[in-house]
Order: sequence, then C-alpha cells, then structure tokens
Amino acid sequence: MVRVSGKSKKSRLDSPQFVGSLLLLAADCRQQARVYRVHLASAAMKRNRCVINKLLQGNAKFVAGEFKPNEKYYRTIAARQSPKVLWIGCSDSRVSEDVITGSRPGTMFVHRNVANIVAFNDVNISSILEYGIVHLKIEDIVVCGHTRCGGIAAIEDGVHENYIADWLCIASGAKVITDEIAQKHKLSREQKLEVLAAENVKLQIKHLQSLALIKNMHEKGSLPRIHGWLYRVETGAIDVLVNGRTGKVTKGFKSLESMRS
Ligand SMILES: [Zn+2]
Repeated sequence: MVRVSGKSKKSRLDSPQFVGSLLLLAADCRQQARVYRVHLASAAMKRNRCVINKLLQGNAKFVAGEFKPNEKYYRTIAARQSPKVLWIGCSDSRVSEDVITGSRPGTMFVHRNVANIVAFNDVNISSILEYGIVHLKIEDIVVCGHTRCGGIAAIEDGVHENYIADWLCIASGAKVITDEIAQKHKLSREQKLEVLAAENVKLQIKHLQSLALIKNMHEKGSLPRIHGWLYRVETGAIDVLVNGRTGKVTKGFKSLESMRS
C-alpha cells in the first residue's frame, strides 16, 4: 500500500496480478536454474566418461602396439620385476617418469608425492626405500623436481590447508636458502620458483642421505647413487642438478640459468 496525501491508495505494484506474475517468474527462474544444473552435471559426467573411455582405448592401443610386439620382454617382467632405478618425483600430472625418460614399464620403481619430498618418519617412503634397495637391489635413486610446481609455489606463497601446510613444511629449509639467493640476485618470481624447485631437490637428497638405511649403505660403499634432476615442463628437458656418479652439485642461480640456454 502507498500512502498519498494521508489517504491510502493501492499501487499497481501491490496488485494481486502483479505479485502473481512475479511469483510465476521466480518459479520459472528456479526451474531454469534446475535444468541448467542438470545440464552442467550431465555435461561433466559425459566429459568424465569420455576421459575414462580414452584411457581404456589407450590401453587397447598399448596392448596392440607395444605389448604384443614385445611380448617376450613383457613376459620376462611379468615373471619378476627388476627395475634399476628408484624414482622419487612429484605427483604432478605433467611429470610422468616413464614418458619423459622414454622408459618401458619395468624400468623404474616409483614413489611420487606433492613436491617430491623425502620425509623422516614417513613409513610410506621408508618401506619403498627398503624394498627397493634391500630386495630389488636398486643402485640408482633419482630425485626429480620440476618447474611450474604447485607445491613449490605453495612453499613460496604459504598455504593454510592443514595437511598440505604440514607436508610442505618439510621443505622449508629450501626456502631459507632460496630467499638469500633471490635477494642477492634480485630474482623475478619465476626465477625464484625455479631456484626453489632446484634447492628443494638438493634438500630432499640431504634428507635421503640422512636416513639410516642409506647412511649405513653409503658407509659400506658408494651405493645407492643419488641423482638430483629438474624437469622443465616448458621444454620437456631434464637438467642434472646433482650428478650421482661424480657427486658434482650445480650451485647457485647462475649455474641454473646456464642450463636454460
Ligand atoms: Zn610438483
């Protein structure tokens, strides 16, 4: 109701017809939103089905194009795996160790986690190391980090999600070193993240070397050799940061820059 000159006058906006049409419009909008949500969900399901189908089609191609022509090799590894390398890498979907190193199944024993971290008191990685070294007699371990790593960016920027924050805290030593390098060379954010990814690889190698299992083996001889690599997602190339054969370590930002060119 609208009051005009002390008298109440019925507005067109208050009319039952107008209110009724508004209610109808709102109901129509709700219905359209429901239809749109169903449409989105159905499109997402179709997309997901499509990806899963592609994986299965990919497997059929692998069986026909790789497995069958090399059946003798695959029969050998079916009887017993004997990988020569233990790969410790990031879970990132773009860093698939078999693909980027052109390796067949059976070449590498693999452990991957966020930011390729070697944690103390981590039963997961400890059991992988024990099985790999003691039972599979692996002689080379590769710790491979990569550029454009979300975990590395989160170490730099800080993260508040509970488990991710706790996990990345294990790599905080790499950030301390990187902060010093970045300040000295006035690095851009992209350059700093690259240095941080490299320093993280070196730190995780130190963690590996500190584990009793590895330390005891190194005291008896030189195995397992530990290599530190950085995979560049922009070019597909791998840079050697730590040469496990010679022990040579790439130091500082300038050495890293020279690898890029
Ligand atoms: Zn990563």
